[in-house]
Amino acid sequence: MFNSIKWRFTIIYFILIFIALTFSGIFIVQAFEEYNLSSVEKRLDDLTDVILSEIENLNDLNPKSVQKIISNYKELGFDEEIYMINNEDVIIATSTENINKNASDLLDLQLLISAKNEETRTAIAAIKNYDIRTMDRSLPVYINGKLSGILFIRYNLNEIYLTLSKTTMIIVKAIVIATAFTIVICFIIARTISEPIEDISKKALLMSNGDFSNRVEVKSNDEIGDLATTFNLLTDKLQFNINEVFKEKNKMETIIEYMNDGLIAVDLNKNIIHMNSRARHFLNIDNCDVMLDCINEILDIDSIINNNELIGIKNVKIDQNIFKVDYLPFKDEEENEIGLVFVISDITESEKLEKMRKDFVANVSHELKTPLTSIKSYSETLVNDDYDKEITKKFLNVINTEADRMARLVKDLLKLSNFDASFDNVDIKECDWVVLIENVLLKLKPIYQVKDQQVDFTNFVNDSLGKFDYDKMEQVIINILSNAIKYTEEKGKIIINLKNDLEYFIVEIIDDGIGIPDEDLDNIFNRFYRVDKARSRKLGGTGLGLAIAKEIVEMHNGKLIIKSKLDIGTKATLFVPKNVKL
Ligand code: ADP
Repeated sequence: MFNSIKWRFTIIYFILIFIALTFSGIFIVQAFEEYNLSSVEKRLDDLTDVILSEIENLNDLNPKSVQKIISNYKELGFDEEIYMINNEDVIIATSTENINKNASDLLDLQLLISAKNEETRTAIAAIKNYDIRTMDRSLPVYINGKLSGILFIRYNLNEIYLTLSKTTMIIVKAIVIATAFTIVICFIIARTISEPIEDISKKALLMSNGDFSNRVEVKSNDEIGDLATTFNLLTDKLQFNINEVFKEKNKMETIIEYMNDGLIAVDLNKNIIHMNSRARHFLNIDNCDVMLDCINEILDIDSIINNNELIGIKNVKIDQNIFKVDYLPFKDEEENEIGLVFVISDITESEKLEKMRKDFVANVSHELKTPLTSIKSYSETLVNDDYDKEITKKFLNVINTEADRMARLVKDLLKLSNFDASFDNVDIKECDWVVLIENVLLKLKPIYQVKDQQVDFTNFVNDSLGKFDYDKMEQVIINILSNAIKYTEEKGKIIINLKNDLEYFIVEIIDDGIGIPDEDLDNIFNRFYRVDKARSRKLGGTGLGLAIAKEIVEMHNGKLIIKSKLDIGTKATLFVPKNVKL
């Protein structure tokens, strides 16, 4: 309790006031004593002067005459004890009852000796164990120029000392009361100083526990008031800064949580510090009993830490997916490595794309190599040997057909690569679906007529005006319809229906051709995919027709669905939105 600033102030003030009052009390008492004693001394001076002059005016030291003088003064009210002592040390006259007694038995011997030695002296004496205190004065008496005796006057100081002790008592009481008041007032004043400080310290403690809602009351505009204002300002700033830090932290956490990559942070003791849900999802560890064990099994954290190879990249395969794991250490303020961060990216798609790219290059090379090989071999044969006109023409026909095939292939590839490069060159205009389908039928008529196939087009739509890129959509219908023609036997039947619903124009192209095996259905939109390569090639297919059709339909935000049954037929359904939004 006494450690508090309030009590320290009070005790210090108490000590200061006590010392000040005690010293001033002592000073006052001393000054009072000195003043009284000097008054008595003066009084003794005056009295001795008048008595001495009267005695020294006598012709001789006649005890009666001296007694008369002394008695006179007593009667006049002087209550000092007056003694006249002759050279034989006998009191010959006195205002007391000690007549004819030996002076040295009663009075101060030192003073008597001094007077005998013709000195005048004054001294304060204590008699009877300090019960009585007196001021004594002795002086030589000369009659007719001859040392005749000693005049001794004694003044009783008891009255003065009594007054003095009463005064001292009053002063002591005053000191006690004053210090008591001082303690109370000091305590009150100290409290006004200490209370705001205690308040600040209490609020600072709350602040350290994260509670920033408290403010200190500013009661004065002195330094303590300034301190309270500054403290409130500090609290506001701290709260603001902490809020900012929280915001930043939340932002970071949200970014980490919702980033495309998985993120795991572990310390070097292999405790998981942070893991976002993407990482959990990628590593498929939600059902793990011991999370760290599962992560360790996949990422092999143990060997990374044990081999102290804290920076690296590796690929891990989980189920059908491939992930790239980048890891590197993070450090503390003193640049010591204290943990590892793993960033996990799903590269399944890019790996697939890379594979597709390689397959594509291989396919293109292969597709180009086949016609090139036959062109080369036929042209070499023609160059090296002489053939008759008919065989030469036959060979040249083969070369021509193969060159056409190469040209078709390159044309299709160029189309696809144009679509890949840009989706911008789609020219959406108002066009009529019926016009489009009838034009395609007209273009393909020579082909299906050769095969003696029956192609029926039925329009179920009242208003067939749609919005699409005419040339591209024509390509789609041509590709689908020519497939239907290609993969349907002679005399086969092909039905084309134009329908609509609220959202889409729907074109159905149904054939009763060879159909597509179930296992191939998923792949027929892949570039160069053909169910029967030899057959397709023979029929002039490049394996790119459906891929092109699908790309174009998707450019229009539409869908192309192909359903088929082997040996029964195929149904291609095209959905194109009425309001194409790019
Ligand atoms: P292609 O140029 O070989 O016809 P497409 O991409 O147009 O290539 O078609 C891919 C493959 O899908 C064809 O090789 C064929 O095997 C199969 N296919 C497409 N349409 C039909 C259909 N109507 N009937 C049977 N098979 C089809």
